[in-house]
Amino acid sequence: MLGYRGLTLALRMNYQLIPKELRLITEKVEARQRLSEADALTLYRANDLNALGIIANVVRERKNDNYATYIHNRYINYSNICILSCQFCAFAAKKRDAHAFEYAIDEIIRVVGDALALGVTEVHMVGGLHPTLKKEWYLDLLQRLRTLGPNLHIKAFTAIEVRHLAQRIFRMPIRDTLETLRAAGLGSITGGGAEIFDPVVRDKICRGKETVAEWLDVHRTWHSMGGRSTCTMLYGHIETLAQRVDHLRQIRELQDETSGFTGFVPFAFEPSQSDGILAQIKRASGFEQLRNLAVSRIYLDNIDHLTAYWVSLGLPLAQVSLSYGVDDLHGTILEEKIFHMAGATTPQQQTVAALEYAIREAGREPAQRDSHYRRLNGASRAGQPNEPELVCA
Ligand code: SF4
Repeated sequence: MLGYRGLTLALRMNYQLIPKELRLITEKVEARQRLSEADALTLYRANDLNALGIIANVVRERKNDNYATYIHNRYINYSNICILSCQFCAFAAKKRDAHAFEYAIDEIIRVVGDALALGVTEVHMVGGLHPTLKKEWYLDLLQRLRTLGPNLHIKAFTAIEVRHLAQRIFRMPIRDTLETLRAAGLGSITGGGAEIFDPVVRDKICRGKETVAEWLDVHRTWHSMGGRSTCTMLYGHIETLAQRVDHLRQIRELQDETSGFTGFVPFAFEPSQSDGILAQIKRASGFEQLRNLAVSRIYLDNIDHLTAYWVSLGLPLAQVSLSYGVDDLHGTILEEKIFHMAGATTPQQQTVAALEYAIREAGREPAQRDSHYRRLNGASRAGQPNEPELVCA
């Protein structure tokens, strides 16, 4: 395996593959200098995808060697009933809507218990901003999940849900709300709800949703309590490249302050069910998704991990992204609703074997990880028989 010196040499040997307009940036990356927002914009405007992959791969291997991780997890959405109506969201419903759902705690416990028996280490749980569920309901849910097993990590609630709980349900400050949730069993908060930070775009795609300052403040508070979280970006709709860069800048700045983000998970807008201002948007191409991942990897120098969300990309493209800066394929998930209600045609789950097969075929070393991206010992299933065909989107 190449060390940093070897990687640097490898990059130098490939310098002829880097177009002139990216060479200064490449030198900065080699020298571990921080990139400017103008550099990020130059990268976003570059059409030489392979050059971006070469540069991103240097950062990726510097941070994560040849490993590519995945988590064995179970998604569950406790309810899609939401007081907001974000324009891009096909998941949310009002109570009167035919597609509204709300799981009883007993049902959630049963489903997660079944997943635990399959070996999951994490339950990932988000929902809408529910108008009537009580504080006791959330705390009972967390406490009962916690009793399922000492090794089950509960990753739950976006920063938007946390603010909703704090302001409308718990009626407590953000910190106290997070302390209360943590005392009941919350292990980490999710990165959702960030969308695009630009306020003008935000007003067009998710009017009424919490502001960027409020989203950042929840994560800042959680990090100051010793908590860890992921961060996201919803791109490929009406935002400009400069607005994407500004989103990344704000994430990088908060990470400079707190070091609390474990991984970055960008995902492309799923356009199938959209109308209004989003009706004419085309799905982000494979080229664009790989470019976005590579630029994110190169620019976000202070975030260790970059996840390809296969639910959005499809596993085949997620596999390719392992050569464009990505070091994590997310997880088994077992049941995804939010993207699929928006029209995603990818599978709803992956097996551990399928994820490991995809990683190994891409020339990377698979490793199961925990919720904080720490590799679990002896988790790789290398050499196991009956490796399945890649599950295709
Ligand atoms: S994105 Fe979240 S907050 Fe917005 S409508 Fe959908 S569930 Fe509600």
